[in-house]
Amino acid sequence: MTPDLLAVAAATKGFLPDDEAAALHAAALSADGGLWLEVGTYCGKSTVHVGSAARRRDAQLVTVDHHRGSEENQAGWEWHDTSLVDPHTGRLETLPSLRRTLWDAGLDDVVTAVVGSTQQVGRWWTSPLTFLFLDGNHTEEVAQHDYAAFAPHVVSGGVLCIHDVFENPADGGRPPWNVLRRAVDSGAFAEVSTTGSLRVLRRKSTPFA
Ligand code: MG
Repeated sequence: MTPDLLAVAAATKGFLPDDEAAALHAAALSADGGLWLEVGTYCGKSTVHVGSAARRRDAQLVTVDHHRGSEENQAGWEWHDTSLVDPHTGRLETLPSLRRTLWDAGLDDVVTAVVGSTQQVGRWWTSPLTFLFLDGNHTEEVAQHDYAAFAPHVVSGGVLCIHDVFENPADGGRPPWNVLRRAVDSGAFAEVSTTGSLRVLRRKSTPFA
């Protein structure tokens, strides 16, 4: 990434350490062009890292989020940011932050923001994917839903990245780990690399189970 883009990403709110961001960018660069999907946008920090790779690979990136924050972002929770609350709804509102991030990064022509829950989008999504980044809601129900809704669309040889995967329960929640196990144990994906809590996998040519 150029220093300008790294500065935009660094100035964007989010939960992505630098080493994991670099690994995510590299994983995206290893994917073919075509259509890429990010699940969980927040303010667009990882969107800059993936979107800048998408431009180089001549891919289009879709990023989906309802933009009202996850449970851990709401008032009273650990990851609450009062500056992101919309006084009209009283809820978190991250879409304006994303729009500014994409503008600053010059990625408006590469990234399409879809505003809706993954349960909504999963009902109509049919497009094949050469890259998928799962980083949405971390409840077991939604994490499993997101894998089931979108991972089957990853083409053979396509790249799957999963964020916030912690093997040790003391380090973080179980759902992303369970999704990783599901992806590997099903035989559909092979593990490629681990950087912090970021896991990179590649879709095998075997039928999806
Ligand atoms: Mg994450």
